[in-house]
Amino acid sequence: MRLILLGPPGAGKGTQAQRLVAKHGIVQLSTGDMLRAAASAGTPVGLRARSIMDRGDLVPDDVMIEIIADRIDQPDTANGFILDGFPRTVDQAKALDHLLDERGMSMDCIVEIVVDHEILRERIAGRARETGGSRADDAEATVAKRLEVYRRQTAPVAEYYRQRGVLKAVDGMGSVDEVGARIDQSLRAGTDA
Ligand code: AMP
Repeated sequence: MRLILLGPPGAGKGTQAQRLVAKHGIVQLSTGDMLRAAASAGTPVGLRARSIMDRGDLVPDDVMIEIIADRIDQPDTANGFILDGFPRTVDQAKALDHLLDERGMSMDCIVEIVVDHEILRERIAGRARETGGSRADDAEATVAKRLEVYRRQTAPVAEYYRQRGVLKAVDGMGSVDEVGARIDQSLRAGTDA
Protein backbone atom coordinates (compact mmCIF):
# COMPACT_ATOMS: atom_id res chain seq x y z
CA MET A 1 0.00 0.00 0.00
CA ARG A 2 1.27 3.46 -0.89
CA LEU A 3 -0.24 6.51 0.76
CA ILE A 4 0.24 10.23 1.02
CA LEU A 5 -0.80 12.06 4.17
CA LEU A 6 -1.40 15.74 3.48
CA GLY A 7 -2.22 18.38 6.04
CA PRO A 8 -0.84 21.48 7.72
CA PRO A 9 1.82 21.39 10.45
CA GLY A 10 0.29 20.02 13.63
CA ALA A 11 -2.54 18.19 11.83
CA GLY A 12 -1.29 14.87 13.20
CA LYS A 13 0.32 13.45 10.04
CA GLY A 14 3.26 11.96 11.91
CA THR A 15 1.09 10.35 14.61
CA GLN A 16 -1.34 8.92 12.08
CA ALA A 17 1.51 7.70 9.88
CA GLN A 18 2.94 5.75 12.83
CA ARG A 19 -0.44 4.13 13.40
CA LEU A 20 -0.63 3.07 9.77
CA VAL A 21 2.93 1.76 9.86
CA ALA A 22 2.03 -0.52 12.76
CA LYS A 23 -1.22 -1.61 11.14
CA HIS A 24 -0.04 -2.27 7.59
CA GLY A 25 3.66 -3.08 7.97
CA ILE A 26 4.72 -0.28 5.67
CA VAL A 27 7.38 2.40 6.20
CA GLN A 28 6.88 6.05 7.05
CA LEU A 29 8.83 8.42 4.84
CA SER A 30 8.85 11.72 6.69
CA THR A 31 10.87 14.31 4.80
CA GLY A 32 10.95 16.52 7.92
CA ASP A 33 12.51 13.66 9.95
CA MET A 34 15.00 12.97 7.14
CA LEU A 35 16.05 16.63 7.04
CA ARG A 36 16.36 16.82 10.84
CA ALA A 37 18.50 13.66 10.83
CA ALA A 38 20.69 15.10 8.07
CA ALA A 39 21.05 18.36 10.01
CA SER A 40 22.03 16.50 13.22
CA ALA A 41 24.52 14.39 11.27
CA GLY A 42 25.99 17.61 9.87
CA THR A 43 25.76 16.58 6.20
CA PRO A 44 26.05 19.45 3.67
CA VAL A 45 22.38 19.08 2.68
CA GLY A 46 21.33 18.92 6.33
CA LEU A 47 23.27 22.01 7.30
CA ARG A 48 21.83 24.00 4.39
CA ALA A 49 18.34 22.76 5.21
CA ARG A 50 18.56 23.65 8.90
CA SER A 51 18.47 27.42 8.50
CA ILE A 52 15.64 27.16 5.98
CA MET A 53 13.64 24.93 8.34
CA ASP A 54 14.35 27.15 11.34
CA ARG A 55 12.76 30.11 9.63
CA GLY A 56 9.76 28.05 8.51
CA ASP A 57 10.44 28.10 4.77
CA LEU A 58 10.52 25.17 2.39
CA VAL A 59 13.71 23.44 1.31
CA PRO A 60 14.11 23.74 -2.51
CA ASP A 61 12.12 21.30 -4.62
CA ASP A 62 15.13 19.79 -6.42
CA VAL A 63 16.74 18.82 -3.09
CA MET A 64 13.52 17.26 -1.79
CA ILE A 65 12.81 15.37 -5.00
CA GLU A 66 16.28 13.87 -4.98
CA ILE A 67 15.93 12.84 -1.34
CA ILE A 68 12.58 11.15 -1.90
CA ALA A 69 13.69 9.45 -5.14
CA ASP A 70 16.63 7.87 -3.30
CA ARG A 71 14.45 6.88 -0.37
CA ILE A 72 11.73 5.23 -2.47
CA ASP A 73 14.40 3.04 -4.04
CA GLN A 74 15.46 1.53 -0.70
CA PRO A 75 14.46 -2.12 -0.26
CA ASP A 76 12.41 -1.48 2.91
CA THR A 77 9.70 0.23 0.83
CA ALA A 78 8.84 -3.02 -0.97
CA ASN A 79 5.61 -3.50 1.05
CA GLY A 80 4.63 0.10 0.56
CA PHE A 81 5.16 3.47 2.21
CA ILE A 82 3.46 6.53 3.65
CA LEU A 83 4.67 9.90 2.51
CA ASP A 84 4.46 12.31 5.44
CA GLY A 85 5.44 15.88 4.57
CA PHE A 86 5.96 15.28 0.86
CA PRO A 87 4.84 16.58 -1.63
CA ARG A 88 4.60 20.14 -0.27
CA THR A 89 4.45 22.01 -3.58
CA VAL A 90 2.64 21.30 -6.83
CA ASP A 91 6.02 20.90 -8.54
CA GLN A 92 6.94 18.20 -6.01
CA ALA A 93 3.59 16.49 -6.68
CA LYS A 94 4.28 16.49 -10.42
CA ALA A 95 7.80 15.19 -9.87
CA LEU A 96 6.39 12.43 -7.67
CA ASP A 97 3.96 11.42 -10.43
CA HIS A 98 6.92 11.16 -12.74
CA LEU A 99 9.04 9.16 -10.26
CA LEU A 100 6.22 6.69 -9.69
CA ASP A 101 5.50 6.38 -13.42
CA GLU A 102 9.14 5.59 -14.10
CA ARG A 103 8.97 2.80 -11.54
CA GLY A 104 5.59 1.47 -12.71
CA MET A 105 4.04 2.45 -9.36
CA SER A 106 1.03 4.47 -8.29
CA MET A 107 -0.38 5.78 -5.01
CA ASP A 108 -3.32 3.87 -3.52
CA CYS A 109 -4.74 6.75 -1.53
CA ILE A 110 -4.08 10.40 -0.81
CA VAL A 111 -5.54 11.54 2.48
CA GLU A 112 -5.85 15.17 3.51
CA ILE A 113 -6.20 15.71 7.26
CA VAL A 114 -8.27 18.87 7.63
CA VAL A 115 -7.84 20.96 10.80
CA ASP A 116 -8.72 24.55 11.62
CA HIS A 117 -5.59 26.75 11.64
CA GLU A 118 -6.33 28.34 15.04
CA ILE A 119 -6.42 24.87 16.62
CA LEU A 120 -3.11 24.05 14.96
CA ARG A 121 -1.36 26.96 16.67
CA GLU A 122 -2.51 25.60 20.04
CA ARG A 123 -1.51 22.02 19.20
CA ILE A 124 1.97 23.02 18.07
CA ALA A 125 2.42 25.19 21.17
CA GLY A 126 1.52 22.07 23.19
CA ARG A 127 4.04 19.99 21.24
CA ALA A 128 6.72 22.63 21.85
CA ARG A 129 6.05 22.44 25.61
CA GLU A 130 6.14 18.63 25.58
CA THR A 131 9.39 18.40 23.63
CA GLY A 132 11.03 21.20 25.63
CA GLY A 133 11.56 23.28 22.49
CA SER A 134 13.71 20.67 20.73
CA ARG A 135 12.21 21.72 17.40
CA ALA A 136 13.29 25.29 16.74
CA ASP A 137 10.57 25.63 14.12
CA ASP A 138 7.83 25.06 16.72
CA ALA A 139 8.53 28.56 18.14
CA GLU A 140 5.42 30.72 17.87
CA ALA A 141 6.62 33.17 15.20
CA THR A 142 7.90 30.32 13.02
CA VAL A 143 4.63 28.42 13.36
CA ALA A 144 2.74 31.40 11.91
CA LYS A 145 5.19 31.40 9.00
CA ARG A 146 4.81 27.63 8.46
CA LEU A 147 1.03 27.92 8.38
CA GLU A 148 1.29 30.76 5.87
CA VAL A 149 3.69 28.71 3.72
CA TYR A 150 1.21 25.83 3.94
CA ARG A 151 -1.67 28.01 2.75
CA ARG A 152 0.33 29.46 -0.11
CA GLN A 153 2.37 26.48 -1.33
CA THR A 154 0.94 23.25 0.03
CA ALA A 155 -2.84 23.79 0.00
CA PRO A 156 -2.62 23.84 -3.83
CA VAL A 157 -1.22 20.28 -3.65
CA ALA A 158 -4.49 19.08 -2.09
CA GLU A 159 -6.33 20.92 -4.84
CA TYR A 160 -4.09 19.28 -7.47
CA TYR A 161 -5.12 15.83 -6.23
CA ARG A 162 -8.75 16.84 -5.63
CA GLN A 163 -9.12 17.92 -9.25
CA ARG A 164 -7.77 14.60 -10.34
CA GLY A 165 -10.37 12.82 -8.18
CA VAL A 166 -7.85 10.98 -6.01
CA LEU A 167 -8.10 12.96 -2.76
CA LYS A 168 -9.87 11.81 0.38
CA ALA A 169 -10.44 14.61 2.90
CA VAL A 170 -10.70 13.50 6.53
CA ASP A 171 -11.82 15.60 9.50
CA GLY A 172 -8.72 15.92 11.71
CA MET A 173 -10.58 17.10 14.81
CA GLY A 174 -10.91 14.60 17.64
CA SER A 175 -8.71 12.04 19.35
CA VAL A 176 -5.92 10.14 17.61
CA ASP A 177 -8.16 7.06 17.55
CA GLU A 178 -11.15 8.94 16.15
CA VAL A 179 -9.14 10.49 13.35
CA GLY A 180 -7.41 7.15 12.77
CA ALA A 181 -10.78 5.43 12.39
CA ARG A 182 -11.81 8.02 9.78
CA ILE A 183 -8.58 7.45 7.88
CA ASP A 184 -9.10 3.67 7.98
CA GLN A 185 -12.60 4.18 6.66
CA SER A 186 -11.36 6.39 3.82
CA LEU A 187 -8.74 3.78 2.87
CA ARG A 188 -11.49 1.21 2.58
CA ALA A 189 -13.79 3.55 0.66
CA GLY A 190 -11.36 4.76 -2.01
CA THR A 191 -11.62 8.40 -3.02
CA ASP A 192 -14.16 11.21 -2.65
CA ALA A 193 -16.60 11.50 -5.52
P1 AMP B 1 7.78 18.68 9.00
O1 AMP B 1 8.46 17.88 10.04
O2 AMP B 1 7.13 17.85 7.94
O3 AMP B 1 6.83 19.72 9.56
O4 AMP B 1 8.92 19.50 8.23
C1 AMP B 1 9.74 20.43 8.91
C2 AMP B 1 10.40 21.36 7.90
O5 AMP B 1 11.20 20.61 6.99
C3 AMP B 1 9.45 22.14 7.00
O6 AMP B 1 8.94 23.32 7.62
C4 AMP B 1 10.36 22.46 5.83
O7 AMP B 1 11.27 23.49 6.13
C5 AMP B 1 11.17 21.18 5.69
N1 AMP B 1 10.50 20.20 4.79
C6 AMP B 1 9.99 18.98 5.12
N2 AMP B 1 9.46 18.37 4.04
C7 AMP B 1 9.63 19.23 3.01
C8 AMP B 1 9.28 19.21 1.64
N3 AMP B 1 8.63 18.15 1.10
N4 AMP B 1 9.60 20.28 0.87
C9 AMP B 1 10.25 21.34 1.39
N5 AMP B 1 10.60 21.45 2.66
C10 AMP B 1 10.30 20.40 3.48
